[in-house]
Amino acid sequence: LVEAIATQLGVALIQAEAYANLEDLNEQLEALDRTRSNLIAITGHELRTPLSTIQICLESLAQEPDMPLELRQVMLNTALDDAERLRELVQDFLTLSRLESGRVEWHPEPLPLGECVDLALSSVRSRQAEVSLPQITTCLPSELPLVQADGEWLVEVLSKLLDNACKFTPTQGQVTIEAQDNQNQMLEVTIGDTGRGIEPNRLEAVFDRFYQEEGALRRTTGGTGLGLAICRQIVQNWGGQIWAQSDGKDLGSQFRFTIPIVGNTKAQPAESASET
Ligand code: ADP
Repeated sequence: LVEAIATQLGVALIQAEAYANLEDLNEQLEALDRTRSNLIAITGHELRTPLSTIQICLESLAQEPDMPLELRQVMLNTALDDAERLRELVQDFLTLSRLESGRVEWHPEPLPLGECVDLALSSVRSRQAEVSLPQITTCLPSELPLVQADGEWLVEVLSKLLDNACKFTPTQGQVTIEAQDNQNQMLEVTIGDTGRGIEPNRLEAVFDRFYQEEGALRRTTGGTGLGLAICRQIVQNWGGQIWAQSDGKDLGSQFRFTIPIVGNTKAQPAESASET
């Protein structure tokens, strides 16, 4: 009888555990569904805003053939700017979704960090050719070990961080690129600036999709709000970490990430993409 009761108890316990797991699973599925709905709502809003502006501009141009030439030019430039913003948004959104769904083929190889920094700097300079950039200084030790990464994606991370550092730093400010061996078979790369800085309670949020400082600033600096989310996905893929530091508003920022040195067997890609 004792044996039978024990068996029954065992079965009941297993059932209770299975039920608890099922509840957990249900909660997780509901959370995932909420994230998905939020994402669709945010994405829809982000796409609708530039689309509405383009529509208003084109409608005005079509309805008012006698519009003064200067105003006409303003309307055309606004529509063109928003069309470009829309193109960037779609491109960044597709990149992020490819990264998150694991549909990217990675080709890691031994690379000199300095060459990747040079490529990223040329891309930033050509993208921001019309504005004067702050002074950019590269301070890489001469004996830097090779890193193990996919060159295209490493340049993408460096370009996005440098783009931001230049965008949020006044022309008379400074941007620096540094790297050091962090004694853990990883190289720690830092993109620092003396610009607008980040409030301490925002240091994590800046990596969320579509996070941007609200208001007029957003209009003047452009961007999609997806750059840092993309950087995080790439860095996590090679088993590294990325984080931001700042002493606060107007006190500059440092974005740091780690990347495996050639021969590092410890770094493992993140198993699954993290949701924000
Ligand atoms: P985007 O730059 O396209 O707006 P990101 O994902 O690259 O999007 O950055 C998100 C937000 O994080 C920016 O809009 C800005 O508010 C903040 N941020 C990023 N880099 C910096 C920086 N170097 N200094 C100050 N704020 C920054």
